[in-house]
Amino acid sequence: MTDAPPPPIVDPSALTEVAKDVYVIGDRRIPLVPNIGIVLGANAALVVDTGMGPANGQAVLDTTRRLAGGRRLILTLTHFHPEHGFGAQAFKGQAQIIYNAGQRDELSAKGQPYLDMFRTFGPGVAAALESTELVMPDEVYEGPTKTIDLGGRSVELSTYGAAHTRGDQVVRVPDTGVVFVGDLAEERIFPIFPWFPPNDADIDAANWAKVLGKLEADRPHVVVPGHGSVGGGGILAAVRGYIEDLGPRVADRLRAGESVDDIVKTLAAEVRAEHPDWDSPEWIDFAIRYFADKS
Ligand SMILES: [Zn+2]
Repeated sequence: MTDAPPPPIVDPSALTEVAKDVYVIGDRRIPLVPNIGIVLGANAALVVDTGMGPANGQAVLDTTRRLAGGRRLILTLTHFHPEHGFGAQAFKGQAQIIYNAGQRDELSAKGQPYLDMFRTFGPGVAAALESTELVMPDEVYEGPTKTIDLGGRSVELSTYGAAHTRGDQVVRVPDTGVVFVGDLAEERIFPIFPWFPPNDADIDAANWAKVLGKLEADRPHVVVPGHGSVGGGGILAAVRGYIEDLGPRVADRLRAGESVDDIVKTLAAEVRAEHPDWDSPEWIDFAIRYFADKS
């Protein structure tokens, strides 16, 4: 046993085709490796997320080129977090890079502080992030949606306001019922509440649950979570259930006079026990502190 987590390396051999010409490079349940999407149309290929750092980004670009041949390339991100978007420099000049306005603004505001923070997460993460440059988009869309024609196939980029971050983006491939949801949902992993006040306090859990409800109402055929295994709509329901359940429980205990530190101690253990097969229980504490602050 070792305390060091495995290095956050994207493994292109973890490639699966989840629907016709829709590929996922799976995260293999390794922390700080995201699920990455590659969607092919007749003329263009869309990449969803890059992994963390230039080498991971290059591996994703190489995999994309292998699948996409001479098609033109487009890159978008589910959100600005380092393991999702900080490999974008490999795509600069190779792909049209598209973010929503919220992502661009959030990357401008928090990109460097997040890079500095992640570099303290151990030698594996620091190595992956070596020579990382923050990459601004070639194109930004304002408003809630943008449709991209890949040639015989359209994809929809949608944003619903602050939830896991300020600029979360969902990518739908309507002809297949596939939806990439980024960190709006993880599969058998405690939902990631990046609650780091005062530096980052932009989570909106009420809207987050609402967005998940909307996505469930679409009855997606395949849900690609930010981390964890690809599955169906049950992934979304599990995260919404967690969020809707935890907030009131924290509020009840505060009303009963418990301190936030005591709530973290007792409630986190309870919640952990309710999900024995979920990974990354450290995120429970952050979620409790978020709800305590908002109660
Ligand atoms: Zn995230």
